Amino acid sequence: MSASRLTAAQLADAIARRRDGRPDITRMTSEERRAAGLMDVHQAAEHEMLRSLPHPHLAERVKGPVQGDPWASGHLWAIVRDAGHLGCGGWTVDSRDGLLVCSCGCLLARTDEVAA
Ligand SMILES: [Zn+2]
Repeated sequence: MSASRLTAAQLADAIARRRDGRPDITRMTSEERRAAGLMDVHQAAEHEMLRSLPHPHLAERVKGPVQGDPWASGHLWAIVRDAGHLGCGGWTVDSRDGLLVCSCGCLLARTDEVAA
């Protein structure tokens, strides 16, 4: 008689139990485990494999200015401020030619000259 033909009560009786009352799943077939609402052999193996994987860590938070970022020091912002262009609505740095250009069109600096 296969486990799937057992009633729930018969299945419960058929499940070997350990001394603490929990079913001894090591003695159950996959079919019996599934019928009892437990992980079958393959699922249990997958579960153990996943448990053994190293836990991913959240990326370590970067503190302080990013190395090599000319904006991080506030250096370029100060240049825009000192040139009197803060009210122009923005500025850009072209990384190819290293020009700090105000949105009004003024060339404010070359970033390779002002890099910290
Ligand atoms: Zn401007």
